[in-house]
Amino acid sequence: MGYQTLQDPQFAGLKNYDSQALLGQLPTPAYVIDEERLRENGQVLAALAERTGCRVLLAQKAFSNYDFYPLLAPYLAGTEASGLYEARLGKEEMPGKEVHVFCGAYRADEFEELLQYADHIVFNSIHQLKAFGPQGKQAGKSLGLRINPQCSTQEGHAIYDPCAPGSRMGVTRDVWDKEMDEATLALLDGLHFHTLCEQNSDDLKTTLAAVEEKFGDILPRMKWLNMGGGHHITRPDYDLNTLEVCIRHAQQAWGVTVYLEPGEAVALNAGYFVSRVLDIVENSGTKIAILDASAACHMPDVLEMPYQPPILGADTEAGEGYPFRLAGPTCLAGDVVGDYSFARELHVGDLVLFGDMAIYTTCKNNTFNGMPLPDIWKLDRAGNLTRLTQFGYPDFKMRLGR
Ligand SMILES: *Cc1c(COP(=O)(O)O)cnc(C)c1O
Repeated sequence: MGYQTLQDPQFAGLKNYDSQALLGQLPTPAYVIDEERLRENGQVLAALAERTGCRVLLAQKAFSNYDFYPLLAPYLAGTEASGLYEARLGKEEMPGKEVHVFCGAYRADEFEELLQYADHIVFNSIHQLKAFGPQGKQAGKSLGLRINPQCSTQEGHAIYDPCAPGSRMGVTRDVWDKEMDEATLALLDGLHFHTLCEQNSDDLKTTLAAVEEKFGDILPRMKWLNMGGGHHITRPDYDLNTLEVCIRHAQQAWGVTVYLEPGEAVALNAGYFVSRVLDIVENSGTKIAILDASAACHMPDVLEMPYQPPILGADTEAGEGYPFRLAGPTCLAGDVVGDYSFARELHVGDLVLFGDMAIYTTCKNNTFNGMPLPDIWKLDRAGNLTRLTQFGYPDFKMRLGR
């Protein structure tokens, strides 16, 4: 791998700066969202939409820092939500744009309110479509059903494979054939599939072929096809051409409007997480740097996915340099970010800068162990840093009681 540098995509947004001087002024830990990198991602997505006529939504579960919605809105058709609150956020903070929602199961006591926010509603089962669809149709909504093409294309992360046997995600063709009837089918405007995670377009092509094989007879009756998220469109090695072939195939073969709802791709490599070394301890020859940041609290995907995040000036593999294990200050023994090789010796007080930290972080963190929520800062095009949040003790306490 080698040491991460400002030439690597995760840190390239900082290449015009002295990153230590720029980010060293922040109280740590802190998330920094890079406006210029968001803009660049937005431009790639908008150009794709322009060339193909597809419509691109922001999947808010990956990135929902709404201070940046006005910046992103011109590049996107709207937002995608996982339920009531995200739908409301999309409606409020990206006004005038489409709001799509997919939820594993809707609640009867929330559905009425959801209709105020969402214009496209995707169901996960035929029962839910039957239960809520007529009400949605009456309110003028466009209705969809999530299908499961039973085509696993990812090996690495079983937790992110909705096509695994026994998955609750989407309707398989055998269930469709058992439960679907003509009146229910008449409620449907679109089909939705979401099966990818950080994948390239070759896997979309494989998946689309499975969708065609299983649901090709239904698709000509639909107005739209939503191909979900997990498309790593803004990654440097992403094959846009194959994606475009897939989109055009769907448009031409079935006459559908194609939606994509990436989360990661919108904010990929558009954020940093800034922390400092609080202490260095040693055990059985391993040097462990304890940070003021926690994997469990501030980068939960490091433990959940799991993955090892990139650090500027460090290698994620054992190398020639100074080996350090990085860990959080919490009492969870497994609160370990990973083992790195650093270009320089680490000392107490040193800045440790993580890359690609805009996604699945600020929207997923927690205050376990009474850990403070790191503040969120905006880095603008001119190199100015603006604080967007001011978290403190009240944010910890308010979730626990009166
Ligand atoms: C998670 C999710 C997305 C976004 O996925 P990314 O991997 O962040 O692109 C889109 N649609 C649905 C239904 C999802 O669950």
